[in-house]
Amino acid sequence: MTSGKILVVGGGPAGLFFSILARRALPSTAVHVRERNPRGVTYGWGVAFTESAAAALRPAAPDVVDALTTNTRHDRMVISLDGTGVPVQVGASHLNARWALLDTLEKFALDAGVTVEHGCDTAVTEDDDLAGWDLVVGADGVNSTTRDRFAEHFRPSVELGSNWLAWYGTPKPYPPSIILQNSEHGILMVHASGFSAELSNFTVEVGQETFDKLGFADLTEDESRELCERLFAGSLDGAPLRSDHSPWFRTKFVRCARWTHRNLVLIGDALHTVHPSIGSGTRFAMRDAVYLTEALTGAEWDIEIGLKEFERVRKPVADAFQAAAKRSIDWYEGLPSRTITHPTKFALEYLMRTGRVSYRDFRRENRDVVLGYERELR
Ligand SMILES: Cc1cc2nc3c(=O)[nH]c(=O)nc-3n(C[C@H](O)[C@H](O)[C@H](O)COP(=O)(O)OP(=O)(O)OC[C@H]3O[C@@H](n4cnc5c(N)ncnc54)[C@H](O)[C@@H]3O)c2cc1C
Repeated sequence: MTSGKILVVGGGPAGLFFSILARRALPSTAVHVRERNPRGVTYGWGVAFTESAAAALRPAAPDVVDALTTNTRHDRMVISLDGTGVPVQVGASHLNARWALLDTLEKFALDAGVTVEHGCDTAVTEDDDLAGWDLVVGADGVNSTTRDRFAEHFRPSVELGSNWLAWYGTPKPYPPSIILQNSEHGILMVHASGFSAELSNFTVEVGQETFDKLGFADLTEDESRELCERLFAGSLDGAPLRSDHSPWFRTKFVRCARWTHRNLVLIGDALHTVHPSIGSGTRFAMRDAVYLTEALTGAEWDIEIGLKEFERVRKPVADAFQAAAKRSIDWYEGLPSRTITHPTKFALEYLMRTGRVSYRDFRRENRDVVLGYERELR
């Protein structure tokens, strides 16, 4: 295919980034994105990109990645237990409001000549879409209808997490923080991080028992938000929580046994997920776009060969990343049944939970924290 037609379903980070890369690689090809939401409408608050994620994505589109890494930057985080915070040095990360990230990606896509159709929620069909387009890319997120419609080919598995999460925003400025509170209802957890001068993420996570004891299932979204404001009043210091379609949800851990069907391929959360607790879903999704473009380019845009190559090269890397995410999920889901008493020990355990940071790494970066802890153990 040297000139042809590509349909991308879903204008999230995976779909938009792929459309930019594909159109730049093959300027004579028509690349069309169908997005369900109106422009500027999305879910969630801020998303983080680590510096290493940005470095991995940059060669594919330096201008795009530069535009996504000029905003808020953090290289320290605070892990706190019952009001005692342990500040630790971590790899740098860049944060963007999700709506700003999508707006930036869409501008680059339009500049590259991609067409983006908002308010379009038509399911991919075998006869019209697969027959009518040279390549169809399903990038329609974790609840992908493209994946579900062709489930007998993709053979997905979707594991529902046992913890409940609600993704709020707050005007209180937070460094990236894990906030753990022991309470009479069980352990209450928050992942917070400032993503602009005005706003921070504030994602509350609780186990099933705590969720039931607090009666969240029977509360409206506003009532839940108000109760969380009260539960975390000590940390919020009077700042409000804001919701923006912030219902309680349990995470879905998605894997697919097969990645392609005819000229249809899944990428991003539609294909495989990580977990909010490792803050890497956007990067994971955008890396799929890079691998897919590289595989197709390497195959001189022979779609059949390129899609096979995409799965062959990308799968082992993606599987290893998902395995790290799974360790993080298991760690978080084990927390509600434990008694956590020591802030530094907790910080240490948190940073080593995926197996990607060793005690030695942590000790090198955080000498004072670790020496203090080792003294206490003597
Ligand atoms: C609480 C929480 C915190 C997170 N924090 C981070 C973080 O800090 N860092 C990070 O990297 N990631 C984070 N993530 C994960 C990240 O948001 C996702 O992994 C990432 O957005 C996946 O990109 P995607 O393009 O595959 O899917 P999405 O971003 O979900 O995009 C899919 C798009 O497809 C559209 N769509 C869906 N169905 C259709 C249809 N039938 N037709 C047309 N369009 C359709 C949707 O409207 C959407 O725009 C977080 C997620 C959660 C839930």
